[in-house]
Amino acid sequence: MTQPHIGVLALQGAFREHRQRLESLGARVTEVRLPADLAGLQGLVIPGGESTTIARLMADYALWAPVRDFHAAGGALWGTCAGAILLAREVHGAPPQFGGQQDSLALMDLTVRRNAFGRQVDSFHTPLQVQGLDTPFPAVFIRAPVIERVGEGVEVLARHAGQIVLARQGRLLASSFHPELTADARLHALFLDLAAAPLPA
Ligand code: GLN
Repeated sequence: MTQPHIGVLALQGAFREHRQRLESLGARVTEVRLPADLAGLQGLVIPGGESTTIARLMADYALWAPVRDFHAAGGALWGTCAGAILLAREVHGAPPQFGGQQDSLALMDLTVRRNAFGRQVDSFHTPLQVQGLDTPFPAVFIRAPVIERVGEGVEVLARHAGQIVLARQGRLLASSFHPELTADARLHALFLDLAAAPLPA
């Protein structure tokens, strides 16, 4: 199968690792910094990093509406860690200097809580049972959010210690952890399948 053309939002955070992993699977990858970079893509990865910084840069580069339009036109989106926060309808745990409020695309019917596994020193990795994968996925958590609530139509694909850490809603995928920081490419392959799937008529 021809692999889809994927964008990686390249404003801040772990975008190079996503790019390498997607390219290792044969996908064509474009780094997205400006609205025009979205043209012709079938999927976009929003990487981990610092969600408030990525949100501010998305405003500076006028990317909020174009990314929403990209999804409305059928583009798949995958948010990892900070990226998952940016996909969520509701964000808890934003720092007080933001008035406890945080901008997000609000495309995925999730409530996420930022930094829910503790502080930086509490970053960890663990084998994760993921729905649809035969063997555990090595998951790296770095000041990760948890998904506290999922709406109807959101499929839970993995939990860690009872908390939801991987979920899917149609062409939207959200992971609390960083699949681009391990050698295991199975979740990137899953996203390529999602992005390549034909749109419902
Ligand atoms: N703690 C970061 C945030 O809330 C996310 C960390 C990450 O992406 N690794 O934005």
